[in-house]
Amino acid sequence: MLLSPQIPQKNWLRKAMPDFWKVNTMKTEVIKAEKDGDYGIEKAAELLKKGEVVAIPTETVYGLAANAFDEKAVEKIFIAKGRPSDNPLIVHISELSQWSELVESIPENALALAQAFWPGPLTIILKKSSLIPRRTSGGLDTVGVRMPMHPTARAIIRAAGVPLAAPSANNSGKPSTTTAEHCLHDLDGKIPLIIDSGECSVGVESTVITLVTDVPRVLRPGGISVEMLSEVLGEVEVDDAVLNRLAEGAVAASPGMKYKHYSPSAGVSLVKGSFESFRSFVEAQKEKNILALVFEGEGEKLNVPFIEYGRENDGASQAKRLFSALRSIDETDAKLVYARFPEKDGVGLAVLNRLVRAAAFNIIEL
Ligand code: AMP
Ligand code: MG
Repeated sequence: MLLSPQIPQKNWLRKAMPDFWKVNTMKTEVIKAEKDGDYGIEKAAELLKKGEVVAIPTETVYGLAANAFDEKAVEKIFIAKGRPSDNPLIVHISELSQWSELVESIPENALALAQAFWPGPLTIILKKSSLIPRRTSGGLDTVGVRMPMHPTARAIIRAAGVPLAAPSANNSGKPSTTTAEHCLHDLDGKIPLIIDSGECSVGVESTVITLVTDVPRVLRPGGISVEMLSEVLGEVEVDDAVLNRLAEGAVAASPGMKYKHYSPSAGVSLVKGSFESFRSFVEAQKEKNILALVFEGEGEKLNVPFIEYGRENDGASQAKRLFSALRSIDETDAKLVYARFPEKDGVGLAVLNRLVRAAAFNIIEL
């Protein structure tokens, strides 16, 4: 949202909200880049070194990056996204050697995870070192670190020369961004640069696992499934907040899980049951402006408007399509959305975790 042109003259606004003013009057450039030496990578590194924020592609979703050691730069991430200040940022590295200075120590099980899944869509939480500012860790004494696989993300981290704090590059509460166009939609005028490398391959944010609990615990499911983690670690717990609403007054192990998330403007309900029962259910709805969010090939069998989000029983293909499907709901006149229920295993758990939140835990069992 850009302020109207007459507002710049109003000095009281500049004084009252200097940061708001700054982030809302910027010109946002979009540059295509892929590898070391590309103009966009150099430009991104230059801005990051100056304490600016830049939206960058990763294999999970686009990230809004800043120097993880620079509190002022990190502050700009929170302002641009409208992110609650207690929601910690994940720190991204390009070399394993960068990890040890970010954390108190690296236990054997953490190394085993890194060996198995880095570079890749896994964030590992350990006790933080004093180099990580509280602003970056959302006030916590732990920090989540990830080494992304995307060559552009790695080239940018290398060129910036510092670990990059980077949450998803979306407006807080909205679906994460999986294309540069989505980033521009949410962040135009608020950040100086978006690096465009096309569509993200995983499509949902990283799996987050904490190793500071007695038993390793998944706080957020993602592209690395619980089954894959168990193969390396043995016992792994899945935090209750992954699929359930947090009880009133309870402290969230992962602060991000307590906020409204991934929601289109329309109300969403997740509908559990076979496709046949789903079809009878949506076709019997009396309201106008309903929309069905279904698996590939199902839409044409329905007599209501639909958007498809990946193949049935194929979590990876659902993950890749989910956020752009949720975003495109906002381009329709739908008021009520009924969504097919994904399976719970593998990457399906990550899809279900995002959908139950998009639906504000509103589940209909047929
Ligand atoms: P995003 O950066 O938008 O992908 O969100 C990061 C998610 O990871 C949020 O849900 C955070 O609450 C969670 N997270 C990041 N760092 C930590 C941490 N140190 N402890 C617990 N959760 C974390
Ligand atoms: Mg996010």
